[in-house]
Amino acid sequence: MAVRKIVVLGSTGSIGTQTLDIIERLGQERASVVGLVAWRDSELLKEQARRWGLPSERVVSVEREGSEAMTRLAVLDEADTVVMAVAGAAGLAATLAACKAGKRVCIATKEVLVAAGELVTQAAKDGGAALLPIDSEHSALFQCLAGYDYSLIDKLHITASGGPFRTWEKERIASATVDEALNHPTWRMGGKITIDSATLMNKGLEIIEACWLYGVGEDKVEVVVHPQSIIHSFVELRDGALLAQLGLPDMRLPIQIALLHPEKVDTGIPRLSPTQMRDLTFEAPDHERFPAITLARQAFRTGGTAPAILNAANEAAVGAFLEGKLRFGQLATAVEGALGSIPVTDADTLEKITLADASARRFVREHF
Ligand code: MG
Repeated sequence: MAVRKIVVLGSTGSIGTQTLDIIERLGQERASVVGLVAWRDSELLKEQARRWGLPSERVVSVEREGSEAMTRLAVLDEADTVVMAVAGAAGLAATLAACKAGKRVCIATKEVLVAAGELVTQAAKDGGAALLPIDSEHSALFQCLAGYDYSLIDKLHITASGGPFRTWEKERIASATVDEALNHPTWRMGGKITIDSATLMNKGLEIIEACWLYGVGEDKVEVVVHPQSIIHSFVELRDGALLAQLGLPDMRLPIQIALLHPEKVDTGIPRLSPTQMRDLTFEAPDHERFPAITLARQAFRTGGTAPAILNAANEAAVGAFLEGKLRFGQLATAVEGALGSIPVTDADTLEKITLADASARRFVREHF
């Protein structure tokens, strides 16, 4: 087994630190860190750099050095694998560069596929890069689809925990506080994705992510609410066979699968035992209380820059909600407003996507 030489973009975040944990567990004969990127020049980043013996030119703080420095590490000659785990669409240019450079690109940041799915998948094709999902649902789909041609997909059923407001009345959801929204029942994650899980926008973004990764239309992707977060997704094949992948809600397994595929080793992370499973339940999502999934489907069907507008408006609205500037119930309204007001163009260049992204953020700033 070849040693994976890995650059971690977003090394101090939730996925970044869990990635470094897996690399540590794999040991130096299987994996090593050759570059680190984080937003801030924090103590944690310095400690990570020391641990992996990296010279200063291999350690980037985006805040200090700009996003070009992130792109420089994403195409580093010595690296064969790039983990994209910076929050939001900020890592788009670096992802495109890693794809064009033919790296093994492990994607945790679904926003880059939502905003620029066409560009990213084309760049991966052109550069001969492998795109490997870290998102748990998409990792589950990837595992269930192993050995099957994607044309055999009849339906992809992605599971959702339902978030902290699954059983709440609409009026109560509308005025939920930041602390209530950050209190996710099954997964411990970063702030942005935890809010997206509470609105179910995370599932909306994941529908679009699945469309790009597996080459299907949004009508082939269903969402099923599964509060126990044990089944990470299902694939339904043309003949009706329904395949599922099960595991504990622990991101380290999907991270390890993306880093090593198709190799498998035991890194000692906790395992799910069949006798531990009790009462796995499933229900359809309620689109009346959680309108985000419908908005995401509409944006994908519209095409062009509509998903980039959806994504940027959502990022801006989530940021404003976390700062106490808008109410929980206004998150979907802000996204809907941006989609209805900003003209949609083709999404065939990074410039067009960046422009749509900026317009959507401005719209949310000015109206909320
Ligand atoms: Mg997910």
